[in-house]
Amino acid sequence: MVSPSLKVVEKTNERIVVQFNNTPRQYVNALRRLAISEVPTLAIDDVVILENSSVMHDEALAHRLGLIPLRTDPGRFVMPHECDCGSALGCAKCRVLLVLDAEATDKTKVVTSGELVSEDETVKPVSKDIPIIVLAPNQKLKFEAYARLGTGKSHAKWQPAPVAVVKDGKDENEIMLVIESNGALTAEEILKEAAERLHLKIKGFKQTVESLKIPKNA
Ligand SMILES: [Zn+2]
Repeated sequence: MVSPSLKVVEKTNERIVVQFNNTPRQYVNALRRLAISEVPTLAIDDVVILENSSVMHDEALAHRLGLIPLRTDPGRFVMPHECDCGSALGCAKCRVLLVLDAEATDKTKVVTSGELVSEDETVKPVSKDIPIIVLAPNQKLKFEAYARLGTGKSHAKWQPAPVAVVKDGKDENEIMLVIESNGALTAEEILKEAAERLHLKIKGFKQTVESLKIPKNA
């Protein structure tokens, strides 16, 4: 049997392409699925509106804020339900506060993601130029937004990889995995986190199998 191998053929922060040789397709596919649905990122999931005289409804605004990709330092935060604070409000380990206070004075103003002020310097929108809202003269918007870790399994806004595909390579034994990032994590970080999760699942499966009591001479 030829042993499996892999090679990174392309790598930028936004995109990674890995070539697998002699590797079962299911394995590559599992990595792809984990990258999409189980690698956690931060996204805004709770918004307290303090003032909103714009024409956009509070719920629409909260939905829009949830879709802004936030740079996420892997390993720095824990999932809310796994945090030892046990608080619904959360703590510094399981949530990040971002605030915005904007006002249009005499001219129409486009409020962008760059105006969000984060309490954690490592957590900020991946782009400063994502439009949030247009304020007409004299309109105000002020809110507190809480970002938490989540996964694509529970909502698409937590998906770190808008593109994750498995393709056939040039040779018969070649399979390509392409992962593109939305910027919350680098493409490499997504792949590493997916591989780590696959490893844990296999380990868990092995322990389950080992714990099965099989009657002798059955
Ligand atoms: Zn906590």
